[in-house]
Parts: sequence; structure tokens; C-alpha cells
Amino acid sequence: MIPYGRQSITDADIQAVKEVLQSDFLTQGPAVPRFEAAVALRCDAPHAVAVSSATAALHIACLALGVGPGDWVWTSPITFVASANCALYCGARVDFVDIDPETGNMSIDELVSKLEAAERLGTLPKVVIPVHFSGQPCDMKAIHALSQQYGFSVIEDASHAVGGLYEGTAVGASVYSDISIFSFHPVKIITTAEGGMALTRNSALAEKMQLLRTHGITRNAEEMSKAPDGPWYYEQLDLGFNYRMTDMQAALGLSQLARLDQFISRRHEIAEQYDSLLAGLPVASLRREENSYSALHLYILKLNLSRISVTRREVFEAMRQAGVGVQVHYIPVHLQPFYRNLGFKKGDFPAAEKFYEQIISLPIYPTLSDDEQEQVIIALREALGCGADA
Ligand SMILES: *Cc1c(COP(=O)(O)O)cnc(C)c1O
Repeated sequence: MIPYGRQSITDADIQAVKEVLQSDFLTQGPAVPRFEAAVALRCDAPHAVAVSSATAALHIACLALGVGPGDWVWTSPITFVASANCALYCGARVDFVDIDPETGNMSIDELVSKLEAAERLGTLPKVVIPVHFSGQPCDMKAIHALSQQYGFSVIEDASHAVGGLYEGTAVGASVYSDISIFSFHPVKIITTAEGGMALTRNSALAEKMQLLRTHGITRNAEEMSKAPDGPWYYEQLDLGFNYRMTDMQAALGLSQLARLDQFISRRHEIAEQYDSLLAGLPVASLRREENSYSALHLYILKLNLSRISVTRREVFEAMRQAGVGVQVHYIPVHLQPFYRNLGFKKGDFPAAEKFYEQIISLPIYPTLSDDEQEQVIIALREALGCGADA
């Protein structure tokens, strides 16, 4: 089966992990700060906090921004559940902003009208979490301007967008947000197996997140409530977690980072090839904005269901039968049973729901070969009933 995404691991990656395994520190050693510094440099952000997953990063980012009971956090319904769950971890309430079906990103028009209504009702969000869906950055300038006008904080869920650019600036630089989050899960752009990172320009937020990732404990005398009892002394200042990344993971991430540009340019080659191979088929791909460079984590197809005689499910199953591991990104979060139990229902976010019914993710990852890509297109044509030469 050709998967929709997979990691690329070289001998250099293996060697980097092996060196850590043979060193004194498997965790809490020098590889983690080295990886953080390299990502910070690469993304032009002064602070980077490595953690055990993007989910953990979203959680401590919300906490660092003061999210708690009584607060609202808004995100996109077309995302992985973690983008919304992080607010619930903090005891806050979640709501969603419907999408722009051309990109799958949070719609700015919807955000504006929802903010106007929330202002009247006194339910403005504490934090908005735009998701750079498929790797395409959201309109961060517009979101930033709204955050200033309405007084909310912004966390960019850039899990799909490591290595992308927004108006020439690296995603993660957090110029138009408070914190940006990366995921290093194996299907994402670079991997540490499990892993994530929170980037920020704000040193107080960085310190807070550093504290929260390791039990709320500090060994820095300057932060303590009193003079240390002795060299062994540490203080717990907050209720934190063990969200640490290991040195093995960080070493893998550092080694992967060296190939980030290569990975993304290969993803662009694959996407351009898909664009041309799909011409004339009853499908559309997502808009790629002129002012940005997508990391192309996903290549999403929208089926033109009125022009084909098969259902999305039939297309999906036929492609799986043909050995192509297509996927669907995402089931709208508000339609998950857990979120329905919170009061959300079908019809709440119609653009997201319609999008969900049309989409299929095609395989895209750096080691996908031209032959495999050909196989994907043949399988797609057959599944759509468009024949080999139609
Ligand atoms: C993958 C993903 C996450 C969660 O990442 P983990 O590192 O697996 O915790 C969060 N948000 C989005 C949009 C994702 O795609």
C-alpha cells in the first residue's frame, strides 16, 4: 500500500540517534537545547520549547496564555482534534469558526462576523487557534489585526506547516501571533517520532512553557521563593507536566532539519505533478496562496460530486483496493461524538461539513516515486470512472 504520508530516514538520522544512545544522556541532555536553537534560528523565532508532542505544546501554550475555566477558545473545525482538545484540558470552552472551502483554512469573513456577535454577547474568545491546513499559512495579518481589535491571543497550529513561509517570513516566527506550534509526528514534515515544539517571540511565555513542560519545577535560584537550601534544591512553582522531548528524539529532529528544504521542494514537485496529471478530471485541488509558500503536508482533492456517478466512499474504497492509501483530512471536529455531547450538531459549520464530504488526501511525501505517483493517478481515474485515457 502506498501510504498518504511517511517519514524519510537516512543513515545520518540513524547515526545521530545512535550517538545519543551511546552518550551519557538519553533525556535532559544537550541534544534538546541544540534542536531548539536550530529550529529557532531556522524559523527566526527567539524562543523554541521542545515537548513530547504538538498536543502537549498546544496544552502548555493555552496555559501560558492564561486559558482557564470561563474562557472561550476558537479554532477551525477542519483540523485534528488536538487543536480543540487543548482548550478543554484547561477547563475552557471551545467554539469553531467555519472554513474557506478554497483553502480549508479558517475563514476570515466568518471570524469577523463571529467576533461581532461575540462582542454583543460578551463571549469574546481568550485565544484563537488558526490551523495552517495542509501547510498553507492562514491570513495571519488579518487575524493579527482582529486580535488587536478584539483583544484575544493567537496560537498558530502550524503542525502541517514547518518550513513554510508567510509573506517571506518563516512559519513559526510568530510575528502575527503569540505562539506557534509544530508537530514532528512521522507523517508531518520532519519527524522526531513523537514530538512537538512551541515557538514564540515573548520571553515570559517561553519561560512559562519551559516550566510547565517539566512539572512546574525550576532549578533557577532567581525564580525561587527563597534562597536554595543547598545545591540539590529545586522548587515547584506551578502545576506542570512531564512533556519533555528525549535527546534521542531531538537528535533525530536535528538531523532531519538539515533536509527540511529538500523535503518541501520535493513536496512541491509532487504537488505540481498532481496538478498537471489531474487536469480535466472532475476534481479540484486547494488554492495555494501567492503570498506564501506552503509546506504541503497534505495534497487534498475535492471531488466534484455532481459530475461523477460514484460516491466519495466508493472512490476512497476503490483506491484502497488498488493499493493507494488515501485518507480523509478531517472529519469536522464538532461532529465527533465527544463534541456533539458538548452541544455541537450537524449544520453548525456548513462549509466544513460540505468540505468533509468532498475530500480525499492523495499520497504526498518526499520519497514517493514518480512511478508510485503514476499509480495513484491511474487508480484515481479508474475510481472516478474516467478510464485510463479519458
Ligand atoms: C498532527 C496534528 C496535531 C497533533 O500533533 P501531535 O504531535 O501528534 O500531538 C495537532 N494539530 C494538527 C493540525 C495536526 O495535524
